[in-house]
Amino acid sequence: MPASLDIHKSALLARQTELIARLVALEHRLDAPQTPDWDDLAIAREDDEVLEATGLSGQHELRQIEAALERIDHGTYGICARCGAAIGDDRLNALPYTPVCRTCAT
Ligand SMILES: [Zn+2]
Repeated sequence: MPASLDIHKSALLARQTELIARLVALEHRLDAPQTPDWDDLAIAREDDEVLEATGLSGQHELRQIEAALERIDHGTYGICARCGAAIGDDRLNALPYTPVCRTCAT
């Protein structure tokens, strides 16, 4: 395994742990009992929508990270899923879970 692959894998695992912790914390907040005050309830409901949107984007990123970790296991990580070219290390450093190269992403 090349050294850079190791670095990307650690970054993916660290991000995965962080996202799971955040999603678990979000679920606890969404399940928390509502305050009986009506004004607060309206605000709490808006908060919930924001929290749910955050949760959805987190779950989406989590799925991309899981897919990237599978590609590492299968030896296809860092290869563009669309054109088969190698994805640059600078792009993988910025977006370790990306399945496509810079050209295909634009
Ligand atoms: Zn490509």
